[in-house]
Amino acid sequence: MNLELSEEQTAVRQLARDFSDREIAPHAVEWDRAESVDRAIVKKLGALGFLGLTIPEEYGGCGGDHLAYCLVTEELGRGDSAVRGIVSVSLGLVAKTLAHWGTEEQKRQWLPGLTSGDLVGCFGLTEPGTGSDAGSLTTRAVRDGDAYVVNGSKMFITNGTWADVVLLFARSTDAPGHKGVSAFLVPTDTPGLTRREIHGKLGLRGQATAELVLEDVRVPASAMLAPEGKGFSVAMSALAKGRMSVAAGCVGIAQAALDAAVKYATEREQFGRTIAHHQLVQELLTDIAVDVDAARLLTWRVADLIDRGQPFVTEASKAKLFASEAAVRAANNALQVFGGYGYIDEYPAGKLLRDARVMTLYEGTSQIQKLVIGRALTGVSAF
Ligand code: FAD
Repeated sequence: MNLELSEEQTAVRQLARDFSDREIAPHAVEWDRAESVDRAIVKKLGALGFLGLTIPEEYGGCGGDHLAYCLVTEELGRGDSAVRGIVSVSLGLVAKTLAHWGTEEQKRQWLPGLTSGDLVGCFGLTEPGTGSDAGSLTTRAVRDGDAYVVNGSKMFITNGTWADVVLLFARSTDAPGHKGVSAFLVPTDTPGLTRREIHGKLGLRGQATAELVLEDVRVPASAMLAPEGKGFSVAMSALAKGRMSVAAGCVGIAQAALDAAVKYATEREQFGRTIAHHQLVQELLTDIAVDVDAARLLTWRVADLIDRGQPFVTEASKAKLFASEAAVRAANNALQVFGGYGYIDEYPAGKLLRDARVMTLYEGTSQIQKLVIGRALTGVSAF
């Protein structure tokens, strides 16, 4: 893989870097405390094309490759993971999946709004009783004339209360296991769909995470995404690419941890000199720096594989596993560099640690990533 960025990739990264420094990072603490990002940020992201990366121009996107998508995601994650997550879901899990699997009519209906930021999407897979074992989901979609009637509930849905459309996974046939699962595009104002915001999260507090309840929600058959029974394949294809986006967001967290820790270490004095003079502080900084580089390179490799049309699923799991654990380590090491000041939210390390922690949990926990990698190594599924 060529590690030199093209002129276009360098320019898009600089655009995202400037935007993150100007429009995101200065508000991150305030949004975290308020448990709400300013929604106006979504339109600004859309105006810069950050919600249309990799989406063809004919549907309102701005094209671009997956490496450019990673670069932007990293910069957004460096500014505030809560904002990064809004993009990773609305673009990464919903718009990109729709662009791949959708009919012409579905693409024309939803993609221009999602890429401009006029609309927000959410991804409804997890349920109160099914997380890692998503293929066992129990939300039902029963055929009734030219529509399906959906009943069930969804848990921990990012963008849930903000979203205009949910990419919803429900069981529509009696086929065993995940073979009976189908995907639907459901407007969130459809009668019978109610949403409850989940408060008190450890991190990503600015993000609107919600529980969705569906009671006799009528969805036209034309809103099914991909053929009946293919819903689980749709979900897994979305998550495989989504893991690259999560990994890129983790690189952003780790980079923010490194930047903050180096700055603090060269300013704070103890024992008559800056703490950067102490070898054990340098060790903390070094460990963060190596985690940043390793996580970034694993993530870029996934982008490169996707852009060249090569198999990438196992590599995406490796990148997501390593980058998420690395982001937690990096933020924790940064907190140590800050000493007691790291423990209060006027300084960035505590928030970075709280935001990093969920990365090892969603879009497949670290254990689930290990099972994906282990299956590829041995040919044995240990799920
Ligand atoms: P469980 O599956 O119950 O796992 C509990 C523990 O058991 C974990 O440690 C897990 O690794 C372990 N475990 C389970 N099975 C195995 C196994 N076979 N072998 C070894 N260990 C195992 N979901 C969506 O659909 N859309 C979203 O937008 C979304 N956003 C989220 C945002 C946040 C902030 C959070 C916290 C979650 C979000 N999720 C979302 C849900 C997330 O993907 C799930 O929480 C995750 O998949 C884990 O499921 P669970 O919480 O039910 O844990």
